[in-house]
Amino acid sequence: MTKQTHANTTKDQAFYADQFKYDKSKNVYLCPAGKELHYYRARKKDGKVIGYEYRHPDACKDCQFKTRCSRAKKGRSIFRHVKQDLLDRIDTQTKKNLKKYKLRQMIVEYPFGTIKRGWGAYYFLTRRKVSVSAEISLSFLAYNLKRVINILGTEEILRRLRQRGDVVLV
Ligand code: SF4
Repeated sequence: MTKQTHANTTKDQAFYADQFKYDKSKNVYLCPAGKELHYYRARKKDGKVIGYEYRHPDACKDCQFKTRCSRAKKGRSIFRHVKQDLLDRIDTQTKKNLKKYKLRQMIVEYPFGTIKRGWGAYYFLTRRKVSVSAEISLSFLAYNLKRVINILGTEEILRRLRQRGDVVLV
């Protein structure tokens, strides 16, 4: 699986966001009609910059592909995530290592399945990233403990812990 190609509002694949090529040296996006979309403004969420918009309203106004590309009156806008360079690197790495990526997907599928279906954790009880992170971490801590108990047994775990001088057991 690779990253989403991001459909546009017209659903015409020839004008999906991935058809717009970024030119880093000029900081512009080249659209399928060969026009350059320039930096327009930063997009913010909760006061933080989350990315940047690129547009070229004048080019879009007279473009023969306008109805296929965008429904917006001012023409097409392309969003660039504030960490887009990193996301692109990850995407390239993923494509290069597709086999490993698929293997990893299989390995993590089982714990997620157990936690969701076996333990009924179909949705989070908390909100906001920090709370959700804590909640999922507790689920995986419980999963890992159960797993190690199944594999080693509590006696063996305690024996190994006692062998370590830095663990105090009461
Ligand atoms: S509508 Fe604008 S962005 Fe879309 S192809 Fe035409 S010029 Fe390019």
